[in-house]
Amino acid sequence: MTYLDANATEKLRPEAREALLAALAVTGNPSSVHAAGRAAHRLLEDSRETIAVAFGARAADVVLLSGATEADAQAIAALGTGRRVILGATEHDAVRAAAPGAEILPVDRRGVADLDALARMLAEGGPALVCLMAANNETGTLQPIAAAAEICRAAGAWLHVDAVQAAGRLPLDFAALGATSMALSGHKLGGPAGAGALLVAPALSAGFRPLVAGGGQERGRRGGTPPLPAIAGFAAAARAAVAGLTDMPRIAALRDALEAEATAAGAMVMGAGAPRIANTTCLALPGVAAQTQVIALDLAGVQVSAGAACSSGKVAESHVLRAMDAGPLAGEAIRVSLCWDATEADVAAFLRAWHDMAGRLYPSGKQGKASFS
Ligand code: PLP
Repeated sequence: MTYLDANATEKLRPEAREALLAALAVTGNPSSVHAAGRAAHRLLEDSRETIAVAFGARAADVVLLSGATEADAQAIAALGTGRRVILGATEHDAVRAAAPGAEILPVDRRGVADLDALARMLAEGGPALVCLMAANNETGTLQPIAAAAEICRAAGAWLHVDAVQAAGRLPLDFAALGATSMALSGHKLGGPAGAGALLVAPALSAGFRPLVAGGGQERGRRGGTPPLPAIAGFAAAARAAVAGLTDMPRIAALRDALEAEATAAGAMVMGAGAPRIANTTCLALPGVAAQTQVIALDLAGVQVSAGAACSSGKVAESHVLRAMDAGPLAGEAIRVSLCWDATEADVAAFLRAWHDMAGRLYPSGKQGKASFS
């Protein structure tokens, strides 16, 4: 099996496995006052501190949640109420579903948000919450977050950044970024599923309205007993992922080699020409449905996805690629996302399966343009 679907769920890092197993041995609820509870509380707060350090936040501003879907929904509920909400056109469904009726900020054919349009939209009216993801889950395209933050700051708007796919693949410093809030997910950076975080700017982090109130945990910002093993695993994965950023040039070289060979044989790279995270490529094969490609590759033992992983199973065009004006290619692109431990052997296995698939499904001589932008 060759697993190339890191953007759906990263491979569990050994550091995360170890921390998770150790936390399973901790009996106690962090809210309990007895010794067992205090030990659990210590582990919870140590984990929070580790996550804060990894992403440039204060521990007090890290709200631990079930994952990034909740973090995005919580950010929009807390910061978007009473404000206009503006979403980048390629935001994840976790954001889109939490802000029905939001205004949409267009992107160019590479998937990069139009910041002139953002400035114009913000000049038009009342206080706004802007949601712009750091890196797209389907194409890997990076958004100009620092510039967007500056535009938002000048216009008095708030900025929520879904940093799920950038975390562990790029250095992220929440304090320096100038965003109001930032969403993270444990299982996207090598931790277990079940834990994520919302980082909130110090001025706003103490008193926002929780989506889940419950027993007042997380200083009243998220009720419910925290899943300590998942949180400890998330923290260990975050630390390991940030330490592992030095390996990203190696991952980028593997991705570039994969793209070079696939494009020479007719694939087109969606988002080519934009700055992208190192591990991701979105490859279209004109005329061949994405689901057909995914199934053919799966039968050959290679696991990739079509469109957003959260919508796999649906035969739908990607809203991300549609926003990039990709035409029919919006239903003909697969996402290959290399894991943190990817090797040349993974790339070779993918290319063997891909050439075999393309040879059968893609009529020879019908060469693509090699890149789309
Ligand atoms: N945001 C982005 C960009 C994602 O890629 C995903 C998952 O695919 C999410 C949010 C949701 O994350 P989680 O699985 O932690 O709810």
